Formats: sequence, C-alpha cells, structure tokens
Amino acid sequence: MTTPATSLYAATAKLQPRMAHGRYARLRVAAMLGLLGLYYLLPWISLGGQPLVLLDLPHRRFHVLGLTLMPQDLYLLAWLLVIAAMTLFLFTALAGRLWCGYACPQTVWTEAFLWMERLVEGERHARLKLDAAPWGANKILRRGGRHLLWALFSLFTGLTFVAYFVPARELFPAFFTGAVGGWALFWSLFYGFATWGNAGFLREQVCKYMCPYARFQSSMFDRHTLLIAYDEKRGEPRKSLARKADAQARGSCVDCSLCVQVCPTGIDIRQGLQYECIACAACVDVCDNVMDSVGQPRGLIRYTSSAREEGLATKLLRPRTLAYGLLWLLLCGGFVVMVALRSPLQLDVMRDRHSLYRQLPDGRVENLYTVKLANASADAHRFRIEVRDRQGRAYEADSGEITLAPGELRSLVLPVRTAERPAETVTTLLFTAAAVDAPRLRREREARFLSGAQP
Ligand code: SF4
Ligand code: SF4
Repeated sequence: MTTPATSLYAATAKLQPRMAHGRYARLRVAAMLGLLGLYYLLPWISLGGQPLVLLDLPHRRFHVLGLTLMPQDLYLLAWLLVIAAMTLFLFTALAGRLWCGYACPQTVWTEAFLWMERLVEGERHARLKLDAAPWGANKILRRGGRHLLWALFSLFTGLTFVAYFVPARELFPAFFTGAVGGWALFWSLFYGFATWGNAGFLREQVCKYMCPYARFQSSMFDRHTLLIAYDEKRGEPRKSLARKADAQARGSCVDCSLCVQVCPTGIDIRQGLQYECIACAACVDVCDNVMDSVGQPRGLIRYTSSAREEGLATKLLRPRTLAYGLLWLLLCGGFVVMVALRSPLQLDVMRDRHSLYRQLPDGRVENLYTVKLANASADAHRFRIEVRDRQGRAYEADSGEITLAPGELRSLVLPVRTAERPAETVTTLLFTAAAVDAPRLRREREARFLSGAQP
C-alpha cells in the first residue's frame, strides 16, 4: 500500500487587494509615510557633528541617538533590544496586532509596493484583467514599468540599509561614481533583493507562514485585547441587496464581499477570528462605507474585544498589562541609570604575553603593555597615562599626550619601567588615563608587573 505524498507547499492564488478608503486607511498611510521617512532619513541626520545612527563596524563604534557606544558597551544595545521586545509585548497585550497592521516593516513596505503597483497597473479590477490577459505590448509595458519602479525603490532601500553601517554621505556618492566597496555593494543588492521579494511577491505569505511573532502573539492576548470582529448577530442572515427579502429576514450584511476584496491576507473576517488577521482595519473602512451607502449604522465590522462583545467594559489596567508595564518601566529605568553611570572614557590594559620582562643595563626592569583608550564622549580630548604601584611610586611610562576625536579608539604599545631595581617579583600597577583638558574624565585599570621568575 502506498502512502499518499504530502506537499509541504500550499499553492495559493495571487491576491490582488482592493484599495480601502476611510479613517483607518488614512492612519495606515500616515504611519507608512512616517516610518518610511524615518528609515530613509535617519542615516543622513547628524547631531553635534556626529551621525544620529551609525553602526561603524570597522572603527568599532556605534552612534545611537547621541550616544557613542564602544564594543564594551554592546550590552546597552542588547538592553535596547530587550526594551523593544518588551514594548512589543506590552503593546500586543493592550492593542492586539496593531503593530502588524500599521508598523511592521513587512506591512509598511508591502503598502508602498502596492501603491506603485496601483500607479502602473491600476486598481484591483484592472490588475486582475491584466493578470488574465495574454502577453502583449500593454502587459509587457505595465509589468516592466512596475518591476522597474520596484527595483529602483528596492535598491534605494538596500543602499539606505547599508548607510546604517557606512556613512550615507560617503556611500551614495561612491555608489553613483562606481567607487563603492565590494561588501557595501553586496549587502545593498542583497537587502534590496530581499525587499523586492518580500514586499513584491511573498507579501501575506510572510505573515501567514514565516513570521514567528504571528505564531506566539496570541499567548499575550486575553479577553480585553483589542481585535477586529464582525458582528454576527447584527450581520446575519446576510443577503445580497439584489435578493428580495423583507427587512426582518435580512441581517445588515449585504454580502458585497468588499471586506474580503480589501483584505491583504485574503481572509473573510465574517468567518470569525483568524490568526491571519493583522488588524489593519481595511475591512472596517470598506464595510463602514457600505453601511453609509445602505443607510445603516457603521460598525458591522469593528475594533472591539471579547469582553466588549460579552457586554463587559474593556479594561486597560489588568494583571497582565500591569506586569508587562512594570517590567517595561524597570527596563527603561535600568537603561537610563546604566547610561548615566557609564564613563565616556574606556581603558583596557593587557600585559604582553610574549615576553615576561626585560632587564635594562642599569638594573631597572621593563614590561610591555597593550593599552586601548577610547573616547566615547561628544568632544575631542587630550589624554595622558600615568602608572603607579599601590604605594604610590611612579613608574616610567611615557605615553605622551594622546589626542582622541569623539568616538575614537586608539591602541598603543606602552613600555613601563621601574625607577629602580624592584624588590618584588610581581607588583600590581594602577594605570590611570585622564584627560588633560577635562580632569574629571579619568579611568583606572590594574595590571601585573613582572620583574623576576613568576612564583
Ligand atoms: S463589507 Fe460589510 S456588508 Fe459587505 S460583505 Fe463585508 S461585512 Fe457584509
Ligand atoms: S480581516 Fe480585516 S483587519 Fe484582518 S487582515 Fe483582513 S482586512 Fe485587515
């Protein structure tokens, strides 16, 4: 007996969502323009001469909203990511999938791509007609125009992504003069290609099958969470306006199917809550317009909550949201404290492991150290390094004056010598780096000094 083969790929018809008009559609467009504007503009904005956001990997410094972070500060970036995740949890518990419907990059870029598609190929009926039409001059021209627009936009998106790692003012001129580096070009094309594929082709498939958040966000839901629902009691029995029926035998739904046509994930919200629903409210807008035109009150499909549907008040403050909110506040407070306590001067001292020590002709001893000094403040400073033992005796360590620009990291080899023949074989030294022009900017590190065979 043969077992029937199971396909892991579910072939689906291509969706051609109709454009929705209304208050939520305007909100979605505003969110899209705001978020895209932020994404494309941020790499061009500077604050006090420093880029607002630049993850400068070659120089190992990260400019984030006025802060200059060094590799030692990466825990702050990780902390920021935890805050972002907690913000999403709190937001989901309060407002369901509003993030998916209005602010998720997949939604935002799909909206932008759909806008370009409409511009070139027309509204839903025209696009469906074009899909069914045989290949000819009109179809080639429109498809070609759409893909050209998508490709240019994707390339711009990919370049902007790389501009978060390479200064935008260097990257864009280098790209257009053919002087861009290989890696920058690779990542621009790769990210552009990913945008083109995700927003142009995969679209709702990403939300349905690829997004992990869509799978686990329901665990943050409770009966007070905001969601989109169809009022079945009021809507059913649904009947088309063309069908004659007396008012008693007819629900408010006129079965126009517009709520299905506008849905970007292709579901019918009248069949109840479904995990594919991203709460974009396109169906709310279109149904409100239908209700206006048939003289019925709006809200047959609406934002609501399970509690409200049961006739109870929706509570914003409840144990789940309070717990998430408290955790969120603690995380944010912790972040502020860590930033406030963080020293803008970083100092690392490592003894050279390849040589134990060197005896000088006059009996003094020399050890070699690698010193890393990073200026994470917003201004340039001049630094000096002093070395003393625990008794306060100065050791000879002529680093000279080291000038560091904001965000600059310098690594230097520093020979340290005793002033006289040392008595101990191992001494603990205190390295102090201090700014000559800002004495409060100082940092200390301990390191061992060897002057004989290790005990
Ligand atoms: S848009 Fe409203 S009236 Fe039209 S089918 Fe959907 S629920 Fe019914
Ligand atoms: S059912 Fe309505 S709210 Fe949900 S994804 Fe479709 S159009 Fe958006």
